[in-house]
Amino acid sequence: MKLLEDKIKRDGLILGDDILKVDSFITHQIDIELMKAIGQRLATVYTENKITKVVTIEASGIAPAIYAADFLHVPLVFAKKSKNVTLTDELLTTEVFSFTKKVTSTVSISHKYLSPEDNILIVDDFLANGQAASGLVDIIQQAQSNIAGVGIVIEKSFQDGRKLLQDKGLQVTALTRIGKFENRQINFLEADDAYLD
Ligand code: 5GP
Repeated sequence: MKLLEDKIKRDGLILGDDILKVDSFITHQIDIELMKAIGQRLATVYTENKITKVVTIEASGIAPAIYAADFLHVPLVFAKKSKNVTLTDELLTTEVFSFTKKVTSTVSISHKYLSPEDNILIVDDFLANGQAASGLVDIIQQAQSNIAGVGIVIEKSFQDGRKLLQDKGLQVTALTRIGKFENRQINFLEADDAYLD
């Protein structure tokens, strides 16, 4: 997605060897027009797939997932990272190791929001080693729902996430794909939605 690549080039910051900071437009402050366009693009790619629900994980997956769900006219379900008193229903749970926080947390989705009739589009902001997305895949498979694909805003293609998901037979659609960080510059690979630009 050319618009998103340009924004990342302009406002993204490289931290250390493998982290991209995008908190001025995606993960903290949100550029609403850009986020809408991201959601619309993901919805366009999956428009023929008869998606019944979009599934993401809190917190920063929620924004792109909301707009994807909006354009697909389906509900959004997000996995919760901490249990609270309102989570009284039967839960589907899994363990997810967080790439940025370096801790493992239990994430869950209430059983009543996923069923074998569902055809799911998973959405997340980043794909790094694929732990967050794999956790969602695990939960969705516990519910015996189908997974139509995984929509990613920013894939760091030098990490293993894409391969991990593709080895599970899943289609990955990344709107931007970062091949490497080199001399403080970002080198992009061709994105999966380039045909729509
Ligand atoms: P994974 O589970 O694929 O290893 O990492 C994906 C998750 O870690 C995303 O949900 C995202 O929140 C976070 N993440 C991974 N890499 C980055 C990064 O470079 N920048 C930011 N802001 N978040 C990242």
